[in-house]
Amino acid sequence: MPSAMIALNKAHYPVTALGPGRRIGLWLQGCALACPGCVSQDTWAFTADRRLPLPLLLAWCQDMAQNGLDGVTISGGEPFAQPAALLALLQALHHWRAETVLNFDILCYSGLPWSHLQQEFAPILDLLDALIPEPFQTHRPTRLIWRGSANQPLIPLSALGEERYAPYRHLEIERRPLQIVVDPERVWGIGIPGPGDLERLEQQCAERGVHLGDVSWRG
Ligand code: SF4
Repeated sequence: MPSAMIALNKAHYPVTALGPGRRIGLWLQGCALACPGCVSQDTWAFTADRRLPLPLLLAWCQDMAQNGLDGVTISGGEPFAQPAALLALLQALHHWRAETVLNFDILCYSGLPWSHLQQEFAPILDLLDALIPEPFQTHRPTRLIWRGSANQPLIPLSALGEERYAPYRHLEIERRPLQIVVDPERVWGIGIPGPGDLERLEQQCAERGVHLGDVSWRG
């Protein structure tokens, strides 16, 4: 079992809005890319208080998976901003997958260009089943499933990834699913909001007397 630390913003199960089936979602902490229009600005800071031992996170994943698991989605933040921890996480997920009857896939998001990831992070890419790279571009809205902007491809990286994700590469959807999670610290959404969705949500809450305080889509 790896002893690495990993900086994590949040984790959730089941996630159904970021990849096929019922998934574990892991949002890693830390991103220096500052894409204009980013709705996850709470994940930007590289703060030490978000670090936790990887075995603890793995144990939580294995506990959640008792209810079934189709995939793990890793997002952020920028997962590749902590490459050693990301590699250790992926190695641990592979080790677990080899030992269990669960045939879950691993999908990862990155705001880095695909060409850069290929040059710098080949050992990490070897452990992914699918990847959605490229920076979010607010001026290029899209209906492509699981994508934030039209420049972001869905790239299968393994046989399992090809089997699971090929049907979705060019699939467009009318309405984007957004899961709302309430925990003791915050209310947060899982999914890819469309242009103006969060502002509309904020306005509709205000009309009902609910005023949102610190929101992650404004710096
Ligand atoms: S959209 Fe993703 S990659 Fe871009 S600033 Fe936000 S968290 Fe970072």
